[in-house]
Amino acid sequence: MATKTVIHMPSNILDAIYAGAKELYPRESFLLLRGKKRKGIISITDLVLAPFAVHGEGFANFNPYLFGGDYSLVGTVHSHPSGNISPSHTDLNYFFGRVLMIVGYPYEGKNCVAAYDSNGDKLPIEVVAALKCKDEDFY
Ligand SMILES: [Zn+2]
Repeated sequence: MATKTVIHMPSNILDAIYAGAKELYPRESFLLLRGKKRKGIISITDLVLAPFAVHGEGFANFNPYLFGGDYSLVGTVHSHPSGNISPSHTDLNYFFGRVLMIVGYPYEGKNCVAAYDSNGDKLPIEVVAALKCKDEDFY
């Protein structure tokens, strides 16, 4: 049996996802996840806005082919204002990348977020310390 991939989610990025979801509530928020893959671990490093995703319409208006060449994108995250963090059939039909992440109302703590693979199986999320500023990029 294959070992499940673990998602490493920096706490500051999770906070940013929650903040965006709260701002758009009761509409859905939708973002792309950028990350790094290592053996058995996907570390989320950035959030990317999908400007063409119409808020409130979720996956229906997202065209993954526009991002076909960007391999640093590991998946998507969107909010469920209902609070139910299970993926819908539409979510799974429009699966993009390796991770489908869903945050649910009230967008607080560690129990309002879930991640799934393309089969709809839940992937464990570890909330890790916030990433340090990449100061070295400026030298
Ligand atoms: Zn959904």
